[in-house]
Amino acid sequence: MKATLKGRPTKNISMLIKKDKDIIQSYFEDHSGLLGGFADKVYIPDNEKEIIEYIKTASSQKKPVTISGAGTGVTGGRIPFGGDVLSMEALNKIINIKKLSDSCAVATVQPGVTVQQLKDKAKENGWMYPPDPTEQTSFIGGNVSTNASGSRGYKYGPTRKYVNRLRVILSCGDVLDISRGNIFSHGQGEIKIPLLKNVLSVSLPKYKLPNIKNAAGYFNQPGMDLIDLFIGHEGTLGIMTEIDVLLQPVTDKIFSGVAFFTDEKESWNFVLEGKVTIPNTLSYEYFDSYALGLLKKDYPQIPDASKAAIFFEQDLTGQDEDKILNKWIELLEKHGVNQEKVWFATSNKDQESFREFRHALPEKVNEIVKKNKLPKVGTDIAVPNEHLPEMMEFFTDKLEDSDIPYLIFGHIGESHLHANILPENNADYEKSRRIYVGLVEKAINLGGTVSAEHGIGKLKHIFLEKMIGKQGLIEIAQLKKTIDPSCILGLGNIFPKELLHSL
Ligand SMILES: Cc1cc2nc3c(=O)[nH]c(=O)nc-3n(C[C@H](O)[C@H](O)[C@H](O)COP(=O)(O)OP(=O)(O)OC[C@H]3O[C@@H](n4cnc5c(N)ncnc54)[C@H](O)[C@@H]3O)c2cc1C
Repeated sequence: MKATLKGRPTKNISMLIKKDKDIIQSYFEDHSGLLGGFADKVYIPDNEKEIIEYIKTASSQKKPVTISGAGTGVTGGRIPFGGDVLSMEALNKIINIKKLSDSCAVATVQPGVTVQQLKDKAKENGWMYPPDPTEQTSFIGGNVSTNASGSRGYKYGPTRKYVNRLRVILSCGDVLDISRGNIFSHGQGEIKIPLLKNVLSVSLPKYKLPNIKNAAGYFNQPGMDLIDLFIGHEGTLGIMTEIDVLLQPVTDKIFSGVAFFTDEKESWNFVLEGKVTIPNTLSYEYFDSYALGLLKKDYPQIPDASKAAIFFEQDLTGQDEDKILNKWIELLEKHGVNQEKVWFATSNKDQESFREFRHALPEKVNEIVKKNKLPKVGTDIAVPNEHLPEMMEFFTDKLEDSDIPYLIFGHIGESHLHANILPENNADYEKSRRIYVGLVEKAINLGGTVSAEHGIGKLKHIFLEKMIGKQGLIEIAQLKKTIDPSCILGLGNIFPKELLHSL
């Protein structure tokens, strides 16, 4: 239904609004399992003007607004608890792709463009989008908002590295057009944001974030770029309406392998040594024995008695291929893997089937969750590299003791593993939550993060508080209130909304 916006000052603007309860129910869900979301209406703008008019009205009425991407988030970030939903789904155009040099291009996209759409268009032009988060239906706006990463994050890093420009509408209706490299923080951690009529002086939080893969809390670094504040803000600071992301030439000289280990510790050491001795590796992904057990039904060729596997991808561009291949073989043999226990792929087709092997796992986990009718309890923690073996041992000890089905897989190259605990009854679910807390606390004690790629959303406030302290959360809330003084955007994301009342 096209309808006019109640209370809007401009007469000729109309926007798609959904309010039928059955129809809008799907906007109250994502992949977190968080229940109980509700909102009055879902607004679906298809241009900035509509958003500006809408948000000015919502601000004046102090009406909470939750921004919705594709709903693939796993922390409840897009789930509203009151107010309206502002969905980005109609802002789904790739505006253009411009070549900047032989090694770089920039794509200007609207926030509702999916990862798949961007990748396909980039590929047509000989480019690739390096962050490439696994969930291909997620929106680029959602990715920027959560600072998402993909399975090649070891080489390419998170979304943040590729965001070069953002257009953001603030809750006052002003539009910021922020290009990387223009506005930096200075002095005692202050950053100045030029608005239409004045300059907003924003005090940045004082906490120190770990120098590892991280998606927890507002970004914070001495001399930081303003654009970085809006990457990973989880829909709490503004509405992103246009995004410039950097692209790179397609890397087609790749070989990949899946190595099967009979001793899991050898697999961890293999990765730690490979990272130091072999350059230009794209990814190291881990599978524990339970993950392999799940996959064995579809991949019976997985060697029996495998305790762990590592999927690795090697960029061969500009390298002596034989020399690199020999290095891998030497490294594998040193860690107890003979060539019969490795699958190698050099053709595009085989490489694609390896990536399917990797991506089959989250789907298998989702099937079990559906069957159990109970959410999984999954970690997103990462630790500094030197603490990887200690964290892995801790994972295994705690999870083995629990007698609850679990599996561990993920981005071992970045010391970032997803332990998925799969409770089958309510008592085990509660027990799983307690184990989860122990795992997160251990990661924090080792100088790690409570979220390396999914963000905090509505589910992990207490863990962020453990990581940066109560004062850190208060500083985040203060910053949010400076930029969104009517306190309407993304309430309940990153910190409890009640904190805003106490400021
Ligand atoms: C099977 C599966 C695999 C996954 N794999 C990965 C992975 O490899 N790496 C990874 O990082 N994550 C992964 N995820 C999690 C999820 O895909 C990411 O968090 C993704 O970035 C969410 O994007 P979305 O468009 O679905 O956003 P949503 O879930 O709709 O929203 C996420 C947050 O972004 C905010 N937001 C959305 N659009 C805007 C905007 N335009 N302006 C401001 N705020 C906005 C929302 O308010 C919300 O807080 C996976 C999820 C699933 C289900």
